[in-house]
Amino acid sequence: MKKLDIITLYKNSKALLEGHFLLSSGRHSAYYLQSAKVLESPQTASLLAEALAKHIKEHNICYIDAICAPALGGIIAGYELAKAMGVRFIFTERVQGKMQLRRGFEVSSGEHFLICEDIITTGGSALESAEVITYLGGKVLGFAALANRGICKCINSETHSKPEAKLPTHLPLFALENFSFDTYIPEECPLCKQGTQAIKPGSRGN
Ligand code: ZN
Repeated sequence: MKKLDIITLYKNSKALLEGHFLLSSGRHSAYYLQSAKVLESPQTASLLAEALAKHIKEHNICYIDAICAPALGGIIAGYELAKAMGVRFIFTERVQGKMQLRRGFEVSSGEHFLICEDIITTGGSALESAEVITYLGGKVLGFAALANRGICKCINSETHSKPEAKLPTHLPLFALENFSFDTYIPEECPLCKQGTQAIKPGSRGN
């Protein structure tokens, strides 16, 4: 099978926008990632999940029994990955700020889990999901995501984790693509210097 061009898939799905953006941090960037958009097409979601499953299999970490995702962001990606790997799928959700396993989902003692997200930024929610699974007797063998923001270190990446990364470094992170973009304070933004105006993503119905 031809290697998937993840960047093009994200662009075609309008999940990766190019332009001049004002981010919620107040910084400017030439790119904006709307990661949920890439999963709008179930066919694309399957393609991505199958590629991710293949990537995980190649590293042969261990037998996986189940996938767990933190709601809401990880649910579609996690479900599709579970389908591609032929294992069961559960999700954790936050109740009054605390990550929990609800809805009758159970974890067997020693059951092997991967925690899946659509995109890993600091990995905070994924880590909380992993802590819930571990507390309930499961064994978390690693983390998976369709995309990584370049803060946490992927298994096949040369770069180190950034200080704000929350995922444990002794467990692998599998991701299909790294999306780490330069961001600028407005005074130093090269796009502002070219005379264009930064727009807030979403303000034009994006
Ligand atoms: Zn700017």
